[in-house]
Amino acid sequence: MTPKATTLGALRKDVEAGGLARRSVKAEIRDNLIRKLRDGGTLFPGIIGYDDSVVPQVVNAILSRHNFILLGLRGQAKTRILRALTSLLDEWLPVVPGCEIHDDPLAPLCAACRKLTAADGDGLPIEWLHRDQRYVEKLATPDVTIADMIGDLDPIKAARASLHLSDEMTMHYGLVPRANRGIFAINELPDLAGKIQVGLFNILQEGDVQIKGYPVRLPLDLLMVFSANPEDYTARGKIITPLKDRIGSEIRTHYPATRRHAMEITRQEAWTERAHADLHVPDFVREVVEEVAFQARQDQKIDKRSGVSQRLPISLLENVVSNAERRALATGESIAVPRITDVYAAIPAITGKFELEYEGELKGADNVARELIRGAVSTVFDGHFPGADFRQIIDWFDLGGSLQVDDTLASPELLARTGEVQGLHDTARTIAQKRAADAQLAAAVDFVLEGLYAQRKISRSVEGQFQAAEQVKRAPRTVDQLTERDLPLSGSKKKYYN
Ligand SMILES: [Zn+2]
Repeated sequence: MTPKATTLGALRKDVEAGGLARRSVKAEIRDNLIRKLRDGGTLFPGIIGYDDSVVPQVVNAILSRHNFILLGLRGQAKTRILRALTSLLDEWLPVVPGCEIHDDPLAPLCAACRKLTAADGDGLPIEWLHRDQRYVEKLATPDVTIADMIGDLDPIKAARASLHLSDEMTMHYGLVPRANRGIFAINELPDLAGKIQVGLFNILQEGDVQIKGYPVRLPLDLLMVFSANPEDYTARGKIITPLKDRIGSEIRTHYPATRRHAMEITRQEAWTERAHADLHVPDFVREVVEEVAFQARQDQKIDKRSGVSQRLPISLLENVVSNAERRALATGESIAVPRITDVYAAIPAITGKFELEYEGELKGADNVARELIRGAVSTVFDGHFPGADFRQIIDWFDLGGSLQVDDTLASPELLARTGEVQGLHDTARTIAQKRAADAQLAAAVDFVLEGLYAQRKISRSVEGQFQAAEQVKRAPRTVDQLTERDLPLSGSKKKYYN
């Protein structure tokens, strides 16, 4: 990059020569965004599935120079988007060295910097702040105070420097002034106490802060961005109306709309690079992992308001891979291929990721998770075997066959045990790769068995014993089939006929 000015005088020359733009943070972000839009390419790397929804709205908010809020449930990449905004700042910003509020050397706000520039003039050394240091983030909680956010006087500072308490030099700056000339993000905005919201409103309204007891006003330069859960945000009384009114754009985030987007996010976020085993995750396992989250988001037994984060499939895939890794270690196989059975073994990565409704509480989190997996397997299975005929396989079980298959079984062993089921291996081969290794074929066989179980065409015990589906209960008999013992007891009969 071009050499940067080291003194106030040199900086002034650069600005006068047009080599360095002086503009507000919002104008700076807008300029850099416009350049990126012209150049094409990805605006927010790593943000997947928002290209046609959230991203255009964020772009519009920035072009409008709005402070904005992202409304969405947990795990919808809200914080990630806010943090990515720093990529739209200039890489370096000139500041007065040591200033807590990153004063502009050409127009300092604080008393200390004004004194410095007056004393040193053009010889004042300047410092350059990297854009990553121009982002301040705060999680709102009810106990956040005005002093935390805006600032307070600091009696100790005053005593040490033997200054009068009303002297500006005794101010202790809160988070908002410290974010001056940068981006200030507040997560879960509705959790902020009412009077703090009033304080924020003043900043958005007047563009400046007034620290308690001081006659000075600081005209801060900030982009303010927020995140919140939509239900908290729209609930009456949680956000003061004038503050809401001053937030330029409200942008709704969402969970991935398609399984493909969801798989892409999980592939990016989940840690699956395990050094000592050659790992192959079959697509149907990735799909089932994702489908578990999709089904959980629609399940009546799960609390909609708290949502089901994308962190569920991410943790789940990591745990599924670990179970396959553990099996490979135990059996000495050099290749680890996760199976559907491993998804059931990874229930601990599911149960903590949602809040249950009353009906779910009655069932228990483990059972709810097991049902979700079963539903997910059934859906994914349909996608891989549309209209397939499994009669031959089902017949084998209906004729009394049974199989013990669990997640600890080595691949050759699983293939040997299941080989006698006519049609099973042939069906599995239709979805395995050509020249599939034993471990891959074993995973495909396991998928067929689990798919048939999920669709109730065969049954399976918790221990992994597959057998014929339970007989459908006989239809209730009609009245003319009633026998003596179905009739009411004699006592009531008498009463009835009397
Ligand atoms: Zn300063």
